[in-house]
Amino acid sequence: MNNSSSLRLLSFGIGLVAVIALTGMNVYSLYQLRESTIESEKENKRNHLEEFTYQVRHRFQEPSYNLRKFDMGYVEKSFLKSGDFPYKFEKALYEASKDSIFNNIYFTHEDVNHCQDTTQPIYIFNADSKDLERVNSVPEQVCDGLGLARSRMKVLIDDYRWNIKDTFDTHRSMTLSMIDMDDNKVIGHLNFLIDQDYLVNGFLAPELKKKFGPSQQTGVVVWLRNWMLGDVLASSDENVEFDRDHIQRDLRQRFPDMLDNWSLYGQFLESPAIAASNASLIRNLVVLGTAVLALFGALIFMYITAKRERELAQRQAGFLANVTHELKTPLATMQAAGENIFDGRVTDGERLKTYGNHIYNETIRLRKMIDKLLDVARFDSGQPMVQQAPQKLDEVIHEYYDKHYTYVTSKGFEFNFKTEENLPLIMADPDHLETIVSNLVENALKYSLDKKIVGLELRKNEKNKVVELWVKDGGIGIPKKSQKQIFDKFYRLEDSMTARTKGHGLGLSIVKNLVELNGGEITVRSKPGEGSTFIVSFPILIGDAHEYKEKTEPYFDTHKQAELSDYAQ
Ligand code: ADP
Repeated sequence: MNNSSSLRLLSFGIGLVAVIALTGMNVYSLYQLRESTIESEKENKRNHLEEFTYQVRHRFQEPSYNLRKFDMGYVEKSFLKSGDFPYKFEKALYEASKDSIFNNIYFTHEDVNHCQDTTQPIYIFNADSKDLERVNSVPEQVCDGLGLARSRMKVLIDDYRWNIKDTFDTHRSMTLSMIDMDDNKVIGHLNFLIDQDYLVNGFLAPELKKKFGPSQQTGVVVWLRNWMLGDVLASSDENVEFDRDHIQRDLRQRFPDMLDNWSLYGQFLESPAIAASNASLIRNLVVLGTAVLALFGALIFMYITAKRERELAQRQAGFLANVTHELKTPLATMQAAGENIFDGRVTDGERLKTYGNHIYNETIRLRKMIDKLLDVARFDSGQPMVQQAPQKLDEVIHEYYDKHYTYVTSKGFEFNFKTEENLPLIMADPDHLETIVSNLVENALKYSLDKKIVGLELRKNEKNKVVELWVKDGGIGIPKKSQKQIFDKFYRLEDSMTARTKGHGLGLSIVKNLVELNGGEITVRSKPGEGSTFIVSFPILIGDAHEYKEKTEPYFDTHKQAELSDYAQ
C-alpha cells in the first residue's frame, strides 16, 4: 500500500472514530438526560403520593379542629357536674358531626367501659339537640375503636403532651382520646364512625383524579387498594387496569397511622417529557447506526478498491517486464536469421526455407502480441473501433472452424462444431467475432492436459432472445473464486499449468470488452479438473437485415487474426 492510500485510510479511520465518539457521547448524554428525567419524574410522583396521604389525614382532622382548643379538665368537670359538655365544646362537636365523612359520634368517660359492662353508660351526640344522649347499645365498630384507643393511651399517656390524641381503627372509626393535661390523664373518648362510602367515593376517588389523572398527561396512575382483601377501591384513571406485575415498588405509599389496610399504588407511565426524550434517543441511535454502517461500507469499499488497484499495478509491472522479454526474443531470432541470410552464409535452399519459416513465425508472434497491446490501448483510451453489420453467426463460426480444423486436430485435439438450424441474425463486427472465438479456442488449447477436446456450439435462446456461442474444453478448469477475475486485465491464475503457459492475462479481458461492445454478454461455467465452458451471447437482430447491410460500410481491416501456430510452440 502506498503512502497516500495509507494516509487516506488513516484519516478515514480518524474521521470514523471521531464520528462514533461524538455520536456516542451525544447518545450517552441523551440517555443520561432521559434517566434523570425519569428519576426526577418518579421523585416528583413519590412526593405527590406522600402529600396526598397527609391531605387525607388533614381531611379527618379538620372537622375536629375546634375540639382541640379546649381544656379537657374543664370539659370533664362540666360533664361530671351536669351530664353535658360546655356549650362551646358542644358547638364544636356539632360542627364536626355535620361533616359528611362521619356518621355518628359516641362519647364514653374513661372511668366506665360500656363495651365490657353494658350497664355502664355510653353516649351518642345528638346533632339536633346538640346534647349527649345515653344509649343502651352501640355498634361493634364503636367498641373496637374505643378498645384500640384505650389500650394505646395506656402506653402513650406518660409522654403525651397534647390534649387530644386520635387513633384510627383502620377505615372504620376515628377515636379522639381527651387528655387533661394538668393531671396528665385521659378523661374520655369521642368515637367518630367513618362513612366509608363517602370516604371512598365522595372524597378519595375525586381527589385521586384531581391530583393524578388523566394518566396520559401526568404520566402516572394511582390506585387506592385494600391490600388485605386485594380489591381496588378507587383509581386516578379508570381506563388503566390495575396490574400487579407492573406496579412500581417505589411508588407504594401507606397512610401514616391511619387507614391501616389501605395503600396507594402507583404505576409510572411514559409522560410526554419522557416520551420526547425516548424518541430523541431512538432517533439518535438510528442516525448513529446508519452513519456508522455507511462509514463502514465506505471503508470496506475503499479497502477493496485499493486492493484491486494494488493488484492491477502489480500485474501491470509484471506484464511490462514479461512483454519486453517476449518482444526481444522473436526480434533476436529474426535478427540472427536475417544476418545469416544477408551475409550469404546460408545459401542452401532447404536451410533458407527453414530460416524464412523462422522469420515468418516470429513475425506472426510479434504481430499478435502487438495486436493485443493495441486492442488493450484502444479500450483504455476509450476509442474502440466497431463496424457492426448483421451476421449469421453459424456461417462465421463455421468458417473459423473449417479454417482451423487441421491445425487444432494436428495438436491431438478433437475439434467439434455443432449448430442449431435457422439461427437468427445478430449485429456484430465480424473482426471482433473472430478475435473472440480465436481467443477462446486458444485458451482451450492452452489450458488442456490429457482430455484434448474443444467444442464449438451455437444455440438459440428464445427466452432471452439471444444467440449463444458455447466454447467447451475438457481442460484444467477454473476455481469458482477466480471465475470473475479471469476477465480482469492482466489477471492470470496462480497454478503451475498457467505458469508454464505463455500469456499475459489480456485475452479474456479483450474478449469481454469486444463482446460487450457488440451488445453481448460472456459467462463461464467451470469446475477444476473437469473443463470449462465459455458462453458468449448476442442479442437477436430484430428488423430487416438488408436495411443494415445497405447502411454499413465494408468492414475495416485493422488486424487479421494471426495463425494459431505459435501457441503450439
Ligand atoms: P492468458 O494470456 O493468461 O491466457 P487470458 O485473459 O486469456 O490470459 O486468461 C486469463 C487466465 O484465465 C489465464 O491465465 C488462465 O489462468 C485462465 N483461463 C483462461 N481460459 C481458460 C480455460 N479455458 N481453462 C482454464 N483456465 C483458463
